[in-house]
Order: sequence, then C-alpha cells, then structure tokens
Amino acid sequence: MKKIRKAGRISNGIYLDYAASTPVAREVKHVMQPYFSRVFGNPGSLHSFGQEAIAAIDKAREKIAVAIRAEFREVIFTSGATEANNLALRGVVERIRNYELGIRGKDIPNSRPKIIVSAIEHESILDTAYALEREGVEVEVLPVDKGGVVDLKKLETMLDERTVLVSVMYVNNEIGSVQPIAKISEIIRNFRNVKVQISNVKSMTKKQVSKKSFGIAGAAYPLLHVDAAQAFEYLECDAGKLGVDLMTLSSQKIYGPKGAGALFIKSKFKNQNSKIPLSAVSPLITGGGQEFGFRSGTENVPAIAGFGEAVRRAEKEREVHAKQVGIIKNYFLKGLKRIYPNAEINGVTNKESGIGNPKTMAPHILNVCFPTEFAGDLLIKMDMAGIAASSGSACSARSFTPSHVLEAIGLPPERVRGSVRFSFGTPTTKAEIDEVVRRMEKILKPKR
Ligand code: PMP
Repeated sequence: MKKIRKAGRISNGIYLDYAASTPVAREVKHVMQPYFSRVFGNPGSLHSFGQEAIAAIDKAREKIAVAIRAEFREVIFTSGATEANNLALRGVVERIRNYELGIRGKDIPNSRPKIIVSAIEHESILDTAYALEREGVEVEVLPVDKGGVVDLKKLETMLDERTVLVSVMYVNNEIGSVQPIAKISEIIRNFRNVKVQISNVKSMTKKQVSKKSFGIAGAAYPLLHVDAAQAFEYLECDAGKLGVDLMTLSSQKIYGPKGAGALFIKSKFKNQNSKIPLSAVSPLITGGGQEFGFRSGTENVPAIAGFGEAVRRAEKEREVHAKQVGIIKNYFLKGLKRIYPNAEINGVTNKESGIGNPKTMAPHILNVCFPTEFAGDLLIKMDMAGIAASSGSACSARSFTPSHVLEAIGLPPERVRGSVRFSFGTPTTKAEIDEVVRRMEKILKPKR
C-alpha cells in the first residue's frame, strides 16, 4: 500500500480504533481556526475581545442545544466525557448532601444515598461510583445479559426511596450494545409517580409524607444520567424523547477536537420537598462562575467552537454515516471470517439477526474473539503490521486488565483474553479493510 497521510492513516498504518478517538473533521478545524490567535480574548472579559470569544461559545452551545432538543442553559461545557460523567455522579450526590440532607437529614432515618450504575459503564462512571462508595454512598451494579443489555426487570427491583441516580450508557464503548434508554426512563418515571401519588394521600401529615414517600430525596429522584459519548455520532440523542435528566457528550468521538465535552443538565427539575432554587447537580469546580456556575474556569474556546460544529455535522450526516460505517463493519467481518472462520463476535445474542441491527448494536464497533490468540500479543503483532485496534477502552489498555465489559456479559476468561475491539469511522474505506484482512491473514497464520 502506498504511503499515505490523511485522516485515519499514519504512514502505511490503518486505523481501526475510532471508538477511542476520531480525527478532527475539515469543517470543524475551519471553525476552530480563528480562536487560537486572532480571537484570543478571555470569554469572561467585558471588552469586545472577550465578547467575540463568548459569542463563539454561545454559538456552540446553541448548536448542541438544538441537536439534543435542549434549552441553551441546559448545556454545560466540560473538558470531555470523563469530566461530564464526574459532574453527573459527584454533582448529584454533592447536591443531595448540601441541600436535601443538610436541611432534612436529621429527621430522615436511613439517609444514605444510593446510586445505580450498569455493569458495563466506562471507567469514568465506575471508578467515580466506587470513589463515592468509599465516601459512604451505596453503589449497586445493574447486570447485563450476554448481549450487553441491562436487565430492566432487575432495575425495577433495585429502585428504592434512597436511590438518587441511575447511570446507564447509551452505547457501550467495547461491544457497541445499545441500551433501551427510553424504557429505563419510563421505569424511573413510573417509580417517581408512585412517590407523587403517595404524597397526595390527604390523610398523611407533611412530615409523614416526607419520611415515607420521598426518602432522602424528593419526588424528582431518582435522576437518570446517560453517557452518550459513543452514541451521538450514530443515534439520535433527543433529551426529551429519551427522557434523560443528565446526558454526557464528547467531542473527540464525533470528529471534534479533544478537550471538550458537555453535560446536559435538565433545568425543569422540580423537587417537591425543597424550597431551594433547584438544579440537579452541585458544581465540582468552583471559582469564576463560568458555565452558569456549574463549571468554573476559563473555557477552552477553540475546542468548544469545534465541538459545536462537530455536533452540528454529526446531527446532519448521522443517517448517511451510520449506513456507511455499518456496511464497512459487515465487509470487515465477512473478510475476517474468510481467513479465520473461528472468529466469534462478542455481545450479540441469538435473538438478533446479526450485527447489522442499529437498534441493538452501534454500527462502528465490533468486538471479536480469536479463540487461538492472546489479545495482548495479537495487538502488538497487528501494530507491527500497521493495524491499530484495541483490547477495549483506551483507558485500560496500558494496564492489560481483563475487560470488565466482557466479564459482565458472561464470557469465560479464555474468551476475554482472546478478544479485540475493532472500531470503524467515516474515513475507513473498503480498500483499507481489504488490506487489513490481507495483513491479518499473515499474522493469524504465520508461515513456518
Ligand atoms: N464514556 C465513554 C462511553 C467513552 O467511550 C469514553 C472514552 N473512551 C469516555 C466516557 C471518556 O471520554 P474522555 O476520555 O474523552 O473523557
């Protein structure tokens, strides 16, 4: 293959790790350009240099609000998905501690907040949840089936009056499984409605209501947080239709720059018990009060401007991109099966017709087990042959710890050990796939 240098290719390397990061799209780069040197003012400054910068942030915020059908003030910029996930989990708990427990904690028996997270969340959710657990929060893990989809019946039994937050990702970053977010939201809404109904029973005094029906939190709880970092490029993320209270977005997964992400924080947050001006989360970073007080610190203007454009682009091109990338994934799988018939796909149940169902599996991710291989060795051989893939989340790649996602879907250790994640993007071509298959054939069947 000729030496080429364009998006997705380095020298003769072929990049199949788009779930880890994507190259910045041309039009995104174009939108970012002025904000490095020409428009460099601090967006907090009142003079015109600052006003030009804040205008860029506002424009990006507007683009994102339009794309997720949210209000302008409901989009809070962060440094990325990890920070947005931290703000969601820690912010909700912090708020409960500061306001709800601060005021009513004394007369509420058993006031330990509980959060529920799915077993296949990204490390930025799981490790944050476990950090909160060490601070006294109860954490319950919602199991998934072998297709990597959360157990809805189990969720119903897990919800209780102490549950303040449920966090479930939209698309899993290792196996691509799509979670039934609207159904999860409905279950949570029904649970909240029961609280409201109980609170309307006239025979109860106000105190009884607050103790019996609301637990430590009000009828607005539990809140639903969705990490949509891997979803936005390929699935509609309408906050209202999904019924989410909090939603994480990431720039670097949608052909935007690194260093930007956002948390959607629903503003119509009503908690019947509280007289305090309401918001679902307390800030983690305090200071100058940027981002409507939710996240202080001077904003990363070029990255945010680029992120806004990446969101607009993804929203506009979503269907075309999903189809294109889905075709590439199937083409790769066919080629792989030809040279290595024992390849097994992780995270697909028998009920499904295959990997081409976008309702159950995102088009860009394919997790494959090579029963005769050890993923760590295979990935090194692949890298030497110029193929970039991964063994799961980029964050855990260095530690070579077994994937918690593959374990959660019930794969035996030997299958986990032989599994590799391939992820595709809009720059991926069939010619690249043909070349990958040729190179893989040599790796998987070395000449003796
Ligand atoms: N959530 C999901 C689902 C992800 O795939 C990732 C990135 N692997 C993150 C969160 C964290 O994103 P970042 O490293 O950009 O903060």
